[in-house]
Amino acid sequence: MTKKPTGKALFLWLSTISLILLMIAVTLLWYFISPRLHEFNEAFPFILLTGLRIFFFILVIGSILVLLTALTERNFIIARFAVHLFIKIMYPICVFMSSLVGIKEELIGESFVKVNDTFIRSMRKKFKAKDVLILLPHCLQSTECKIRITTDPSNCIRCMKCDIGKVLKLAEKYNVEVAIATGGTLARRIIIDKKPNIIIAVACYRDLVSGIRDTYPIMTMGILNLRPEGPCINTKVEIDKLQKTLDSIVLQSN
Ligand code: SF4
Repeated sequence: MTKKPTGKALFLWLSTISLILLMIAVTLLWYFISPRLHEFNEAFPFILLTGLRIFFFILVIGSILVLLTALTERNFIIARFAVHLFIKIMYPICVFMSSLVGIKEELIGESFVKVNDTFIRSMRKKFKAKDVLILLPHCLQSTECKIRITTDPSNCIRCMKCDIGKVLKLAEKYNVEVAIATGGTLARRIIIDKKPNIIIAVACYRDLVSGIRDTYPIMTMGILNLRPEGPCINTKVEIDKLQKTLDSIVLQSN
């Protein structure tokens, strides 16, 4: 069964609501404790209130920049730091918030991957082919295939029974390296070894989210795999989507 892809709006809405609730909670806390603070020292509440105002100001400006970046896909230079914090911090907060209202984590994860992609696209940057790495999950390989491809993807004879062969053919056209990982630990080791400037990762939402957050500031564009036979077995990738992503980030040498 094909399901409707989740858009970036879900994650952006949840983030905005979470930050508004955070500000309300901090303000209420201030309201209740400030009379007691006056009893200790007259200057202390003033210093704390000033700090709180600065914190709120930075939070609001940072959030506006992040939202503008995600919605317009334009690069606001001073937004880079805000985007960095957003990627590192907001996901677990949004997952917690969504669990309170019964939204599945999978939807949040898919939406987060799309928001992250817009941050990368907003930079309108192209990379040399040698700086790009396509990272594939092992579950893309046909379970009937006995060829060992994790250590060396070029062992694949491209019989095209699974999407590994199609990805390798496409990667060859763009002169981009492909690596296949059996899990998060191996994926991290591959990234340390190959030192790419940008990664195009194919995986389920869970692996994509952890990959994007763990490897930052190395940029990771995520493509969700298709799971016609369920998770982790004979999965597929939309080759058109992968080609469009390569087109958008790889510098073509004429
Ligand atoms: S395309 Fe490659 S990995 Fe896939 S089944 Fe054929 S030989 Fe095996």
